[in-house]
Amino acid sequence: MPSQRTNEVKRVRVAFAGAIAELTALKVDRSIEEGKIKDIFAVHLRFLHDKSFRKRITDFVHNELTTAEYAVSAILRQIASHFAGIDDPYISERATDIYDIEGRLLTQLLGEVRENVEHLRAEVVIVAHDLTPTQTAGLNKTFVKGFATEAGGRTSHTAIVARSLGLPAVVALEDLTSNITADSTVIIDGNRGIVVIDPDEETLAQYRKYAVELAQLEHELYALRDKPAVTRDGVAIALLGNIEFDDEAEIVKEKGGDGIGLYRTEFLYLYSDSEPTEDDHYEAYAHAVRTFEGKPVVIRTMDLGADKYPHSGHYPGETNPVLGLRSIRFCLQNLTMFKNQLRAILRVSVLGDVRIMFPLISNLQELRQAKMILRDVMEDLDEYAVPYNPDLAVGIMVETPSAALTASLLTADCDFFSIGTNDLVQYTLAVDRANEHVATLYSAADPAVLQLIRGVIHDANKARIDLSVCGEIASDPEYIMLILGMGVRTLSLAPPMIPEIKQVIRSVTIEECNHLARKVATMDSQRQIKNYLRDAAIKIIPEAF
Ligand code: PEP
Ligand code: MG
Repeated sequence: MPSQRTNEVKRVRVAFAGAIAELTALKVDRSIEEGKIKDIFAVHLRFLHDKSFRKRITDFVHNELTTAEYAVSAILRQIASHFAGIDDPYISERATDIYDIEGRLLTQLLGEVRENVEHLRAEVVIVAHDLTPTQTAGLNKTFVKGFATEAGGRTSHTAIVARSLGLPAVVALEDLTSNITADSTVIIDGNRGIVVIDPDEETLAQYRKYAVELAQLEHELYALRDKPAVTRDGVAIALLGNIEFDDEAEIVKEKGGDGIGLYRTEFLYLYSDSEPTEDDHYEAYAHAVRTFEGKPVVIRTMDLGADKYPHSGHYPGETNPVLGLRSIRFCLQNLTMFKNQLRAILRVSVLGDVRIMFPLISNLQELRQAKMILRDVMEDLDEYAVPYNPDLAVGIMVETPSAALTASLLTADCDFFSIGTNDLVQYTLAVDRANEHVATLYSAADPAVLQLIRGVIHDANKARIDLSVCGEIASDPEYIMLILGMGVRTLSLAPPMIPEIKQVIRSVTIEECNHLARKVATMDSQRQIKNYLRDAAIKIIPEAF
């Protein structure tokens, strides 16, 4: 379509102009810093002023009929890989500059998209190369009916936020944006992980029927709200909610959840341009705790880093952030921020059954350090006679292989474990959970992961400490029988999934689950286990598949 092509070419031009203006301003700002920084900006500016370089991108838009974003990425990546392959360090290092320029141009383009998304007046689905967890959380559900991205993975935080919002989403679809125009009709089938572009009438009719059936199923499941999550042979399972924002506590309650098993408090930092104050923390936590009146609310201390960065700065650039200064490691090096949050958690602890959970613990020393800081904060509060619950339960997420392997040592120093399978899978299999290129290798059904989980459950039971699973497998109907069969009795999951998971629980016996878990323990491949779990789940609730 000529008008669309012209529009995309214009967007490329505007993005170049914006990036040039931004860099020029930076140059003036930092003019006192002689040398390297200025030199780098000068190189970037030279590239951006180079007309032939811009022409390659606009030609690509014309010839391939793509979006501006896609063209920028495609051309800059071609250039970067060309530079990287040249056997001269001075030139090969220029590849990094090209990636920087790509990022700067994409920020210009996506900034504009964000504007558009905020001012929507009609129903749309969003198709993008990537969305950050914060952008996803900010989507207006009245108009945004779903999204699909090229980047990410099933347990990336963007996908998790979508699940919490009950928003259909499909991630990790390579080469998606080049096949779609602004006028395309798009079906996002989040349940099956399918995107249909410009469907024919028959497919549209099938999906319309499917949507009606799903709405009907949701209605039926709602009737389970006040029924207990008990297996057919009478074993009660606690179903708690995972939340990112305090107001989701109401959704957990509405869906029939028994409390909050994972409050991802780092979202307080992601949503605001400034660092949250102690009172901001307090207000958010108090809201969640009051909503649950005496039921457990597990507040996880901030898990920043990897794919979650605060707007307010504070974060170093890292080449490998998933293995870097993430989560509890960041907290232990930024004590003012950490203590601020701990004070707020301790203050709300008098309002209900508040529990504190440290993420990404990878050894006993780290746990002891975190607890020492907590004690320091308690002493500070004592000094000012601020009330708190000195006996509040303190637990950890078991989400690194090192924590899983040394679970028997960690039990002595904490009151509970919550198994975070999202990260445990990532670190055990060495597969980035948010990288679409390896998305098919990422699976909790891997024998290595399951062996670690079995060990953690065994050690927690032996030490008689509480145990739950809060990774995304607890929201996945296919995994529920296995988790129960392995001995877990508390699950924390995406709030919209609570009714469906309750339905699964009410349809099985622990005897059947034990049998399934024993069978899985004899299997030696991800694929075999996955197929077996899927077949078992389909037999129980065929309507969900
Ligand atoms: C996990 O890693 O399984 C988890 C629940 O934490 P998050 O998804 O926030 O990393
Ligand atoms: Mg985690």
